[in-house]
Amino acid sequence: MSAATGQAVGEDGGPVAVDPHLVRQISDNIDTIRHAIEKAAGEAERDPAAVTLIAVGKVQPVERVEAALLAGQRVFGENRVQEAKSKWPDFRSRYEGVELHLIGPLQTNKVKEAVELFDVIQTVDRPKLARELAKEMEKQGRKLACYIQVNTGEEEQKAGVSPAEADAFIAECRDMLGLTVVGLMCIPPVEDNPALHFAMLREVAKRNGLANLSMGMSGDFETAVEMGATHVRVGTAIFGARDYD
Ligand SMILES: *Cc1c(COP(=O)(O)O)cnc(C)c1O
Repeated sequence: MSAATGQAVGEDGGPVAVDPHLVRQISDNIDTIRHAIEKAAGEAERDPAAVTLIAVGKVQPVERVEAALLAGQRVFGENRVQEAKSKWPDFRSRYEGVELHLIGPLQTNKVKEAVELFDVIQTVDRPKLARELAKEMEKQGRKLACYIQVNTGEEEQKAGVSPAEADAFIAECRDMLGLTVVGLMCIPPVEDNPALHFAMLREVAKRNGLANLSMGMSGDFETAVEMGATHVRVGTAIFGARDYD
């Protein structure tokens, strides 16, 4: 293992070849999901090309993420700045066209690294973070696309602005801070019917003139696509179960 990247390295110091069986397996999983997206889009009379599949590689062994890269996947999501930092600078140096989305909560003391590492921040959820992001993007000359995270279930423990505060917060981010707000993101409560939350997110986006909806995960991405998702965030169905030990 290389201490710097946490990646397996060969005798010449280069990366170890990824097992072709693993590449095949992950490639098949991605194809299966794409077909399901096409079917769901078709049922809703939507263009499947308007749906981007974000592969969520958090907690997965790096070989699985690299297998997805070898299978041609280029849009990825990560939850944590530290974990992203351990894989993506290396992957970016070896694979063209990577687009990396931050989909987990962002602490203000990690804003600098987040702006350096990511292309899209999906979890803008409070004024202090929005201000720090605007300042840091200005400083680095990097205008990242942003999503506002909406806590559609108004869950105590979950990040995101409440639906009632969403309009004002979107206006603040866009008009006062100059953030490039492209859409909204939500994570419905596990025990609820996700469709109600997806519908609510779509409604908030519509009345604020926002085009993108990041909603739907392994268990509910088809419903999300039927309800207008432009971005689905899928981990387990591509990479298998996460091993948190
Ligand atoms: C982990 C995670 C996902 C992917 O979840 P799966 O159920 O494994 O598809 C999607 N979105 C967010 C915000 C996540 O944290």
